[in-house]
Amino acid sequence: MIEVEKKMFEQAKDVFVGGVNSPVRSFAGLGMEPLVLESGKGAIVCASGKGYVDYLLGFGAVILGHAHEEVVEAVKRFVGNGLSFGTTTREEILFGQQLQQAMPMLEKMRFVNSGTEAVMGALRLARGFTKRNKIIKFTNAYHGHADYLLAKAGSGLASLNIPLSDGVPEDFIKNTLVVDYGDKKAVENLFKEHFNEIAAIIVEPVGGNYGVIKPDEEFLRFLREITEAHDALLVFDEIITGFRFAYRSFADSIGIKPDLVCLGKIIGGGLPIGLYGGREQIMRELAPLGKVYQASTFAGNPLVMSVGLATLNVLERVQAEYEELSVRTKVLIDVIGESAKINNIKVDVRTYKTMFSLKFSEKGMFQKFYAELLSEGVFFAPSEYEVNFISFAHTMEHVEKTIQSIKKVFDKMKK
Ligand SMILES: *Cc1c(COP(=O)(O)O)cnc(C)c1O
Repeated sequence: MIEVEKKMFEQAKDVFVGGVNSPVRSFAGLGMEPLVLESGKGAIVCASGKGYVDYLLGFGAVILGHAHEEVVEAVKRFVGNGLSFGTTTREEILFGQQLQQAMPMLEKMRFVNSGTEAVMGALRLARGFTKRNKIIKFTNAYHGHADYLLAKAGSGLASLNIPLSDGVPEDFIKNTLVVDYGDKKAVENLFKEHFNEIAAIIVEPVGGNYGVIKPDEEFLRFLREITEAHDALLVFDEIITGFRFAYRSFADSIGIKPDLVCLGKIIGGGLPIGLYGGREQIMRELAPLGKVYQASTFAGNPLVMSVGLATLNVLERVQAEYEELSVRTKVLIDVIGESAKINNIKVDVRTYKTMFSLKFSEKGMFQKFYAELLSEGVFFAPSEYEVNFISFAHTMEHVEKTIQSIKKVFDKMKK
């Protein structure tokens, strides 16, 4: 890495714990210093003047690629109008309408500032609505950093080998029931054991926080049925999957209707956002109409709203290209698989449509792979448990460049 950048990260360490404001950014476990990025345009990010093809994409938030023209225009258009009012704004209404059109299941919705807040709000509401306390989540699923959801919570903690965060009292997680994704029997047993106590099941319909975990549609349908049978709610955490594979929710594309859905990442177009919504009957329990309280100074921030709206407008227009992104991803991961085989490198390539992750079976291999790939100018997610994404700005040339780089790296690593 270039010297200026190293110096910059030294300064970061003087002010931030481990030099970062979120743990995975520290390249924990990679044994190297992270990039200190300066800018991004399309599929490329820049550090110390060097360009990298970006597959992290702001942990999936930047689906149009960096600094998309229409998103930049939206910021420019809005920024002179004032940044925060503490009232409902026009942008908020327009964006809400656009979201409702794309996802009719959002009969009513509430904006917040992050995915974490969206999940907290949705689960508080589920508890308030059902008058029950227990929540079922799945092993290695991540739903943000709320205390009671940090039990067996996937990527960030998995990379650092932390089973449960310190600072979370046992009392706080006693209502969190954790079972393995796909284990019907375990879910049935929980409903027997805790009869009339389970408020909701929360699930990432496509796993994106422990490498890619393909959706099990039959299991998701089972979750819909069992929650309905027990008057519990089904909450889809679509913070990664919403607008990821099509101009709609993942739930919609498989024909399942959860009671509540959480969104984030993509819908903010790169700005901080979260949203939860769903059945009107449930949402009405939220204050000011109901007695479940959740408030925010910045929720529905007009700048965020206008960037979100601009992003959705572009996505709606280019939605026919989603399929093309899946094709590009497949080209890339097929070559990764073949090339690994030729070079006798054992790697599990996991993918679903426009998401992919690699898990090397030998210790130390990912570290080696990552460092070499980075020096080739390709920026992957800095943990085997994190997922890589492809954006609308990734052309076949970017994919081709990535393929050449990976072939070179595997050739160096071969047995
Ligand atoms: C990123 C993520 C969250 C948390 O969102 P933040 O905006 O980081 O708080 C929650 N659930 C899932 C599935 C996520 O991927």
